Amino acid sequence: RAKQSGKGIACFFDTEMDEAVRTRRQIENDLRHAVLRRQLFLEYQPIVDLRGDRVLGYEALLRWIHPERGLISPDVFIPIAEQSGSIIQIGEWVLEQACREAAKWNEPLPVSVNISPVQFLLPNLFDQIFGILRRTGLEPRRLELEITEAALLHNREDVLATLGRLRIHGVHIVMDDFGTGHSSLSNLQTFPFDKLKIDCSFTALIDKDPSAHAIVRAIIALGNSLNLPVVTEGVETERQRQILVEEGCLQVQGFLTGRPGVAPSTGQEEQAREWSTEALRADG
Ligand code: C2E
Ligand code: MG
Ligand code: MG
Ligand code: MG
Repeated sequence: RAKQSGKGIACFFDTEMDEAVRTRRQIENDLRHAVLRRQLFLEYQPIVDLRGDRVLGYEALLRWIHPERGLISPDVFIPIAEQSGSIIQIGEWVLEQACREAAKWNEPLPVSVNISPVQFLLPNLFDQIFGILRRTGLEPRRLELEITEAALLHNREDVLATLGRLRIHGVHIVMDDFGTGHSSLSNLQTFPFDKLKIDCSFTALIDKDPSAHAIVRAIIALGNSLNLPVVTEGVETERQRQILVEEGCLQVQGFLTGRPGVAPSTGQEEQAREWSTEALRADG
């Protein structure tokens, strides 16, 4: 049929393009209501100490249940939210929700929140964050903000000033997905980051591709010599874990040590359990 009519091909592609554009527009549009319609929630993935298997903190990961499409991955909807601007509202919701939930955890562990480069366009990001900390009662030192190198590409001086202010007030600043973006080692020299995260894409190849292994080794060595804790993300197998131990990595985050899931337990559940045991005793 393609031979018969060039027009037919054009039509075929048009329809397919239309479909993709329509889907995107729908997602973009529906995202605007996602906060108010309560379609968003957070999962928490443990960050674990490699030697003792101790949980050191949790990363908050955003989830969206679309009324028709079901669960949509943040890798799909975050870029759309960034382009349409709705990440501003969504990002504020994430911060508030993560801080409110973390404030209730049994153990005062840190919570890591991903911040989009677009959120730094807000002139009052510092005030927004400190307003949230005040409202939720979370201590600033329990909040870690994960930023990527893309955040330092535009308005670099303003972004660094905001990060510096946050850090002086006790908030920790983490460099996420190190080595995957517009990397520059001078970023590590310019700003006193509190932690470095190695991206899943390196970890996935660590036992297969010698260059991925070499890159991970170099990042861990760099972190160790800068006194910068390094977290390796995406650890799925015992073999990968073993290599990381050998390379001197101290912290991991991955399916092997814990998938993203419900929030860690809170004092309220304990309380509820105590009450129900009391009730049982009273009954018996
Ligand atoms: P990220 O910040 O680098 O988060 C780590 C991602 O790796 C998460 O994907 C997590 O589920 C996944 N992961 C963890 N362990 C493993 C593993 O062992 N194997 C594999 N294959 N994957 C693993 P997720 O939750 O789909 O999030 C994807 C990205 O979306 C995040 O990457 C982050 O860039 C973005 N994102 C998620 N939540 C938020 C948010 O609240 N705000 C912003 N701005 N971005 C977010
Ligand atoms: Mg992250
Ligand atoms: Mg990451
Ligand atoms: Mg990422």
